[in-house]
Amino acid sequence: MLSRIDLHTHSDRSDGALAPAALVARAAARQVALLALTDHDTLAGCSAARAACEQHGIEFLSGLELTCEWRGREVHVVGLAVNEADSSLRDHCCSVLTMRRERIHEIACRLSAAGLPGEALAEQALAVPAPTRTHIARAMCAAGLATSIQRAFDRWLKRGQPGYVAQKWPELATVVRCVLGAGGIAVLAHPHRYKVSNGVLRELVAEFRDAGGGGIEVSLPGMEPADTDRAATLARRFDLAGSVGSDFHEPDLPWRPLGRLDKLPEGVRPITAHLGPVNGRS
Ligand code: AMP
Ligand code: MN
Ligand code: MN
Ligand code: MN
Repeated sequence: MLSRIDLHTHSDRSDGALAPAALVARAAARQVALLALTDHDTLAGCSAARAACEQHGIEFLSGLELTCEWRGREVHVVGLAVNEADSSLRDHCCSVLTMRRERIHEIACRLSAAGLPGEALAEQALAVPAPTRTHIARAMCAAGLATSIQRAFDRWLKRGQPGYVAQKWPELATVVRCVLGAGGIAVLAHPHRYKVSNGVLRELVAEFRDAGGGGIEVSLPGMEPADTDRAATLARRFDLAGSVGSDFHEPDLPWRPLGRLDKLPEGVRPITAHLGPVNGRS
């Protein structure tokens, strides 16, 4: 029988709206049987999510979504089934979170210079382990300065806008090594969202694989059939396992619900086959 799994989700430890336990309760209501919490650059929600999963009888994987850089572009890598106690991974997160906080301060300065209440807008962001631009966008909506998160990005926060602050992220290969060092599987997140040609995407996937990458996301809400086909072709060609998830951030986006059917395109190995006995799977 097909079951629902979700290997890409966010809680309020980064830019998700729900606390880890509330996220898990929502996943349970959606009949999710296997869940990974993958907050941006932090494992802070994993212990609470694991405890909630135990209560609901959901199999849980510790995870995170690490921002990195490849040829000057921002790329995201999901680390699954990582050892939360791994000191190199913890150090990595710690230094990225410091950079994130500094960036938020800088964004606040830029917004203030543009006539907005920068510091007040940054307050919420700085209260969570992994602050992101989404927090600032939410604060803008709450203050009536934007009518949606998307508009806040488009008007203020995305590249080229007054509040944009560039960030130097760790290199892709460094991040993959870090996930592997923590005993995890590195998955290339949402390949359809990188605005690159098919040829460049192939080069990215080749380098990701050579660095030790083990999987690629092939099914997410918002992926067109052609996107899934392209990701599946890359998975087969580079012998990467296929991963599925929602990239859930908040209940207010009903088109991105928790849980995907555990069904992959022809010839793509499921990532669940690689999760090993640690997680009670074989
Ligand atoms: P940050 O890591 O601080 O740069 O924030 C990135 C987060 O903001 C991502 O994880 C997305 O959830 C969201 N995001 C990034 N770019 C956009 C955009 N153009 N429109 C809406 N949300 C975005
Ligand atoms: Mn996000
Ligand atoms: Mn992402
Ligand atoms: Mn994500």
